[in-house]
Amino acid sequence: MNYNFNEGAKRVVKDLNELAQFTADENGAQRVAWTPLWQTTRDWFKEKAEKIGAEVIRDAAGNQWAKISGETEEAVAVGSHLDSVPNGGAYDGALGVLTGLEVLRRYTESGEKPKKTIYAIDWADEEGARYGYSCLGSSAASGTLDINELMGKEDLEGIKFETAVSEYGVSPIDMLAANKQFKERNLKSYLEIHIEQGPVLQNSGKSVSCVYGAAGVERHYIKFTGQSAHAGSFPIKMRQDAFLAAAESALAFREIALKFNAVCTVGKVSVKPDVTTIVPAECTISLDQRTINPEDLKNMHEEAKRVVEEAAKKHGVSAEWSKICTVAPQLFNDDLIELCKEAVKEETGEPTNMYSGPLHDAVEMAALVPTVMMFVMSDKGLSHTKEEFTPDEKLETSVRAFMRLVDKVVNG
Ligand SMILES: [Zn+2]
Repeated sequence: MNYNFNEGAKRVVKDLNELAQFTADENGAQRVAWTPLWQTTRDWFKEKAEKIGAEVIRDAAGNQWAKISGETEEAVAVGSHLDSVPNGGAYDGALGVLTGLEVLRRYTESGEKPKKTIYAIDWADEEGARYGYSCLGSSAASGTLDINELMGKEDLEGIKFETAVSEYGVSPIDMLAANKQFKERNLKSYLEIHIEQGPVLQNSGKSVSCVYGAAGVERHYIKFTGQSAHAGSFPIKMRQDAFLAAAESALAFREIALKFNAVCTVGKVSVKPDVTTIVPAECTISLDQRTINPEDLKNMHEEAKRVVEEAAKKHGVSAEWSKICTVAPQLFNDDLIELCKEAVKEETGEPTNMYSGPLHDAVEMAALVPTVMMFVMSDKGLSHTKEEFTPDEKLETSVRAFMRLVDKVVNG
């Protein structure tokens, strides 16, 4: 029996709608990891996978692997995440997992045994919404998880990480065993389809793209310290205004990002003493700089240090940096990128290619196995909100393109 790509793509959209019906309220999707509704979602996925003949295995970090055996043990994995942020969207993560389900269906329904074994993975806690650790399940599988960072950590209600995950059958001290389990699976490639979560594709009139890598990140706090003074009595030129030094730096960061065709964000600002009539003595800002080019990332960070120094000097304040994290840019696998571009071209007429600003489970995988991603456009670039939207026909185009890619990888 021949597989019908159009019907397959429509089934993914149908599954996404079904999922939204029981996991979203008037504020959006509520599939936050380590909550009852998330568990319900995962059970729903498991049941669907088992119904089509897949074997569902849970690893030590709580990731669910739905497996169908191929002619060889060499395996291809397709994955993403079912968890959402609170008041999240219908497609972020879910598109990838439910497309994975369709990949399994494609073989079980046609009775055609794939050349390679296939896994559809539902990664646990990609969003880090409750404990602030993104890509938790996939980082346990890849072996980069720093469990000490999470032990004892409390959520907003004061519930400890270890208590929360234990309720869902995960033993925190054993989570890294997922890495050993991962290595036993003989994975040869990892593929992930995801919504873009930005406006680039829509702005360029495109709907689907190959993703050739993910941006690296330099993330820091910068604390400016000056002198508080009376807002009425102190002449401007004699002030040591910590806020003005921070503000000048923030504007200069923007210029740096424009120069490198990259992005940067000052998302946090706190001022002390935070009083209308007092010149700020202290101002702390966050800085998040991202680009795909490692050299550029380094230079952008160096330039940021220089402008901070200049702004601090100009306003007579001191500046102190503290690192939040550095993530190196991750380029995906060249051969898979070529296949992915080919698949996108066959479906849309153009071999569109771009890189990802956000991190994804695929970035964790890329360090271990040849990996590539595919993006579908996000209307107005919105995500992590109930307004997240991709029209059905674009979703279907992207699923068809992705199925083509899977075909090339599984049978190639
Ligand atoms: Zn996601």
